[in-house]
Amino acid sequence: MGRTSKDKRDVYYRLAKENGWRARSAFKLLQLDEEFHLFQGVTRAVDLCAAPGSWSQVLSQKIGGQGSGHVVAVDLQAMAPLPGVLQIQGDITQLSTAKEIIQHFEGCPADLVVCDGAPDVTGLHDVDEYMQAQLLLAALNIATHVLKPGGCFVAKIFRGRDVTLIYSQLRVFFSNVLCAKPRSSRNSSIEAFAVCQGYDPPEGFLPDLTKPLLDHSYDPDFNQLDGPTRIIVPFVTCGDLSSYDSDRSYPLDLEDGSEYKYTPPTQPPISPPYQEACTLKKKGRLAKELRPQDCPISTVDTLSQ
Ligand code: SAM
Repeated sequence: MGRTSKDKRDVYYRLAKENGWRARSAFKLLQLDEEFHLFQGVTRAVDLCAAPGSWSQVLSQKIGGQGSGHVVAVDLQAMAPLPGVLQIQGDITQLSTAKEIIQHFEGCPADLVVCDGAPDVTGLHDVDEYMQAQLLLAALNIATHVLKPGGCFVAKIFRGRDVTLIYSQLRVFFSNVLCAKPRSSRNSSIEAFAVCQGYDPPEGFLPDLTKPLLDHSYDPDFNQLDGPTRIIVPFVTCGDLSSYDSDRSYPLDLEDGSEYKYTPPTQPPISPPYQEACTLKKKGRLAKELRPQDCPISTVDTLSQ
């Protein structure tokens, strides 16, 4: 694959590099903001599942000038530093990570919590949706500890079979819940974003990290809400509809007349899982394991002897 082919196939990937964003996801947050004005009046924010950091870049620019610690970014993976962003490396489903985040906001709550978390997709849809929902609930649990009343929570969701259950859980805590699909999120993907505005927990609700939030023990009847108990939230597309279509491939010279020039990634991964393979390849020591069907017949004969 040539180094320009991904630029051709994925226009938002290319634009992200040209605009200095660490990932194409930056456009998703920017397009969500175009519709919902997420950053208005925001001075403190949490970015959960933040690596490589394009949402943190957007946050630090939009609510910038507030000094370090006003944006807290959390991820399992290490992330290259960003000015004004405090980083925590950890698993958001773990109590210790949640406590570390919460400690930071004690006495000074956040206005906005965002979570773009995605599990490693297995291709088994039910498993992927379940894992995604667990990440979202872990993020919501943290949000209930750090958000100020009226605050906003934005999280990636997979619009699968049980998404109604998630909406009903979110509606317990927020006065306004919507499902939004930014233009830069591929139509072919079940990904969308729950935009929850007006944090307003039920009276008497005391956030408690030791009790998993909203653990409905996955009751199949509860999952099949229908009739008056079924929660249907508005679905909103956002981002300029005349802007680039994320499912299309574009020629390298774009329609807006801009001439193509290859741009390297803004921030290459700092410790990718494939690092060892890259080092071996550089030294010419990355050998492919030979399968019998790849061997000349005489070698197969020798191997099987
Ligand atoms: N919003 C990011 C950006 O703009 O650069 C991209 C986020 S990427 C789609 C999803 C991230 O979720 C990955 O970096 C992954 O490490 C993180 N993640 C997945 N499970 C997690 C967990 N349990 N705790 C913390 N981070 C997690």
